[in-house]
Amino acid sequence: MATFLWDDIVFGPIHSRRVGRSLGINLLPLRAKVCTFDCVYCECGGLRKDADSLALPTLEQVMAAIDGKTATLAEQGQGIDSISFTGNGEPTIHPDFPAIIDHILAARDRYFPQAVVSVFTNATRLDRPEVVAALKKVDNPILKIDCALDNMAAVMNRPKGAYSVARVVENMKAFEGNFVLQTMLVKGDVVDNTTPEALAAWYDVVRQLRPREIMLYSVARDTPVEGILKVDADSLRAAAAPLLEEGFNIQINA
Ligand code: SF4
Repeated sequence: MATFLWDDIVFGPIHSRRVGRSLGINLLPLRAKVCTFDCVYCECGGLRKDADSLALPTLEQVMAAIDGKTATLAEQGQGIDSISFTGNGEPTIHPDFPAIIDHILAARDRYFPQAVVSVFTNATRLDRPEVVAALKKVDNPILKIDCALDNMAAVMNRPKGAYSVARVVENMKAFEGNFVLQTMLVKGDVVDNTTPEALAAWYDVVRQLRPREIMLYSVARDTPVEGILKVDADSLRAAAAPLLEEGFNIQINA
């Protein structure tokens, strides 16, 4: 099974049709996943048993990597269209996440003021006010809810601690809709969050939260758990249809 793990703190720039020239930021260990979830579809692969004991890069290392890369690109006259926090797991786990956000925003303003800063997060740490405050500073806080049913989320996302969709939804209300909701749809014997029951619960969550944008997608690579099936573009569009009719802004990435 092919997995994708980052081997650096700052990665790129990579060219993407959707976001242009993009710099990636990884606040997790190099070449190992650390996350509060262990999603059955995760491109980083499965969680190692010793994940919690792996050292994260220090604030100083992260700041030096950001400063080095942005200054070098600026000196070379290379532009950046976007900066995205993704990496080998959940970026808000880093204890200095708020300070790192401030640092990247300062570097962005100095060197690439037009660049859009995005953070992909599974939203499990929105119970921390400092994490919410940091996420509100970036252009695109991209918050995950795959399943609106707790029992299905337990199978699909495999949270490491207690996880309650209702609590996450309450925490997301702090954004007052000014965020991007990311939702992965999959099918198969292991889990299928495209059933009428699962979609109805998800629609209800979307209507409560009213995110300014929704990213709806399916698996693009091998998955760490066998039997996770891709949902094709037509099925993604069909799943999105009731919300599109209600005026929600949904980007479908098949
Ligand atoms: S939240 Fe993201 S990084 Fe964490 S296990 Fe799920 S897909 Fe992987």
